[in-house]
Amino acid sequence: MACGESRVPGTHSQKIYSLSPRNASSIGEPDKEEKHLSFKGDQIMRDFLKKLGIRETNSGAFDGQWLEPSGPEITSYTPITDEPIAKVISSTAKECERAIRRAQEAFRHWCMIPGPKRGEIVRQISMRLRDNKSSLSQLIALEAGKTIAESEGEVQEMIDMADFVVGLSRQLYGVTMQSERPNHRLYEHWLPLGPIGIITSFNFPLAVFSWNALVGLVAGDTLVWKPSSSTPLCSIAAVRLFDQVLKENGMPDGIISLLIGGGESIGEALLADRRLPLISATGSCQLGRRVAEVVGKRLGRTLLELGGNNGVILLNDADLSLALKSILFASVGTSGQRCTTLRRLIVQDGVYDRLVASIVDAYEKIRIGDPFDPKTLMGPLIDQNAVEVYKAVIKRVPHEGGEILWGGEVLRDGIYSKGCWVKPTLVAAHKEMPLTKEENFVPVLYIIKVRDYEEAIDIHNNVDQGLSSGIFTTNLSVAERFLSPLGSDCGIANVNIATSGAELGGAFGGEKDTGGGREAGSDAWKFYMRRQTVTINWGKDLPLAQGIKFGDFSS
Ligand code: NAD
Repeated sequence: MACGESRVPGTHSQKIYSLSPRNASSIGEPDKEEKHLSFKGDQIMRDFLKKLGIRETNSGAFDGQWLEPSGPEITSYTPITDEPIAKVISSTAKECERAIRRAQEAFRHWCMIPGPKRGEIVRQISMRLRDNKSSLSQLIALEAGKTIAESEGEVQEMIDMADFVVGLSRQLYGVTMQSERPNHRLYEHWLPLGPIGIITSFNFPLAVFSWNALVGLVAGDTLVWKPSSSTPLCSIAAVRLFDQVLKENGMPDGIISLLIGGGESIGEALLADRRLPLISATGSCQLGRRVAEVVGKRLGRTLLELGGNNGVILLNDADLSLALKSILFASVGTSGQRCTTLRRLIVQDGVYDRLVASIVDAYEKIRIGDPFDPKTLMGPLIDQNAVEVYKAVIKRVPHEGGEILWGGEVLRDGIYSKGCWVKPTLVAAHKEMPLTKEENFVPVLYIIKVRDYEEAIDIHNNVDQGLSSGIFTTNLSVAERFLSPLGSDCGIANVNIATSGAELGGAFGGEKDTGGGREAGSDAWKFYMRRQTVTINWGKDLPLAQGIKFGDFSS
């Protein structure tokens, strides 16, 4: 099969679904006979959507039951061909109110279930995800346009996260301190926080949800999820699977709720609602500012996972072949739409020419095309808006003194005649270019030449965002400088690895405008619980701390 040739039958000239008018019986659980589906595409495609319960028209509101919302209709398009997959009826304030109320009620039950028992339910979710890995991966590839390998990786991340939190459910440790008072016990323990609001971005339609949801579940919280309107079908499929397991375990409605709808409507309603003590929001820095403002005003807790502008420093002594592979994955993976995408490659002058030649050579060979083809390295952008962002960036490059070394074109011919296709782009840049300070969510890599490490680290840290970073060097001392207090100012710092592909065992997140939040492993669970400091007096006297004497009330 030629590079980029599509293997997705039915996606070039015909619709994946032939959509028929909305009708009430098409909302909710899938019909046994699937009578509303008028599928014209490939049998395999039909099977995975059917298996996941995706219908021609789907409810975008769930609170333990699939509701019949009356919000605007959203059509989910595949960016592979820009054709519709299915429709979703979005939520309104009514469903939002109902879901939050249900989440509050369910919290009273869920929070009292012992942590390890909650962990056991998550273990079953992990098994359910394994059983559906193939279908979920295909849905991600279809709806988000990610390559099948990356889509499978995303579902694997959900599974790994579930396995991780099963163990965590027995390790939500507090600490015991020595009390200064006789016959007193002093300790801290962690309690469930409450119903939490989860707002997620399109680019990891399921992994980001899982980082939050799985930790939240073992922490004893109930979940109200607003996913991106660009990937609503992924969220419906995931919620169905989670809910099946909760129901099989006799759990009440409302432990997990889904509200599909716009940021301005549903999103804002979640931010303002005092019944949600935590809003975990993943998205752009602009989103983060809004979340911080609204939730901060009500003194709620926020967990912000925002944009990155990730840099790698590559020094003269680097292992170039190791670096090249890692740089390619980080710059082109997910079509440049990862929060950890490598956007700035800062290269020492002694190796610059050789490295640039190798990268250009590698970019020429990148297979762009059908995400379902295992040999494809880069799929489409998420939508035509992203293509417009790409075009605007490319237009600015020469005006800002940059030079396009490779790419810079929207792909429109042949198999690319439908869909959101662009060439990954390499730009010879300089440190003053405003573009290098922004996160534009498209596959454009700026390469900046520097004299030495000192200049490199200055440029590296001179951006507003602080998510992921890397250095390629074989000099241990320089690597350690990069990790020292005056080195990388990011939440993630890698040596001889580029910026993408973090493991979930560590806490994930970034500093500065990236928001300061931490998700996934390590002690990120503490965001999802409340700490209580407990003092127990088991004696007969009432000694005060700090030796204070407070008079005698006996006479
Ligand atoms: P986005 O900011 O456009 O949207 C993210 C979510 O916020 C969506 O669900 C959207 O509907 C919602 N939203 C928008 N306005 C809102 C409002 N006023 N109130 C409440 N919710 C609102 O981001 P995107 O385009 O979906 O995703 C790309 C961005 O996400 C990039 O900046 C990327 O770096 C970032 N991201 C960060 C991480 C991380 O862990 N740091 C992970 C993934 C993505």
